[in-house]
Amino acid sequence: MEKVKIVVAGARGRMGLEAVKMIEKVDHFELVAVVDHKNNGMKLSEIEGLPNIDVKVYTDISVCFNETQPDVLVDLTTPEIGRVHTRIALEHGVRPVVGTTGFSKEDLQEITEMAEHKKLGAIIAPNFAVGAILMMKFSQMAAKYFGDVEIIELHHDKKLDAPSGTGLKTAELISTVRESKKQGHPDEKETIAGARGATYDGIHIHSVRLPGLVAHQEVLFGGEGQMLTIRHDSFNRESFMSGVKLSIETVMKIDVLVYGLENIIE
Ligand code: NAP
Repeated sequence: MEKVKIVVAGARGRMGLEAVKMIEKVDHFELVAVVDHKNNGMKLSEIEGLPNIDVKVYTDISVCFNETQPDVLVDLTTPEIGRVHTRIALEHGVRPVVGTTGFSKEDLQEITEMAEHKKLGAIIAPNFAVGAILMMKFSQMAAKYFGDVEIIELHHDKKLDAPSGTGLKTAELISTVRESKKQGHPDEKETIAGARGATYDGIHIHSVRLPGLVAHQEVLFGGEGQMLTIRHDSFNRESFMSGVKLSIETVMKIDVLVYGLENIIE
């Protein structure tokens, strides 16, 4: 079996480092380079705290793609740079697997069109944890019976975007099956702005940021005399890696953009 040649952008980061370690363990994957905004020309093994792997660090992703000719880019950076990396990858015929969160609807539309035009697979997954995908699917099922729902997403305090990609995606999935409605009292007023959280199609999303947390979410459904809570916890970043592995394998077999791991998990 031909090895899948992979570049990781953001390899010094918490997710990127786990991805590098996972790729090293998989026989049919080969890490060919990493992209960083520092350490140009160094070897990964020369950077303190990173695994002893002899691949080159590039600060210019186009040069990286030209020199290493990878099959797949795994991007785990920031939304500002992740959206640029994704476009450059598609331009170079490299299939992006993007875990970076915070892409806008316009980004997704543009990347969808680029992937279609280039006939290249691309996967953007706001959450690679299989348990989180099931939480979203179960929430979508429950929303058929419980129209009143609030989402509480809880993350570490280094997270840049709010609400989380998973919180937003959960709201999007729920809104495909429930009637759009304003929740709470029709005349409710916030005495402190933001008290009721963000809203997506009438669904309230509350974002908690605290040190010590990784990625957690509760979806609360209220009905007459009852409440259903669906909760998922990622306790460490390894929880995301089976999803990254599955996405790398899948992106090699598709020729469109898939947004959300739920679309590749049966
Ligand atoms: P992180 O630890 O801050 O890592 C981000 C890395 O990207 C850092 O090493 C950062 O370097 C680097 N970076 C910044 N600008 C860059 C550039 N121009 N080129 C190359 N690298 C650059 O963050 P994280 O916790 O790993 O999360 C990374 C992304 O994944 C975030 O968007 C997060 O929301 C998302 N995430 C997704 C999932 C999922 O399942 N899909 C799960 C967790 C997190 P510096 O530190 O020097 O700035």
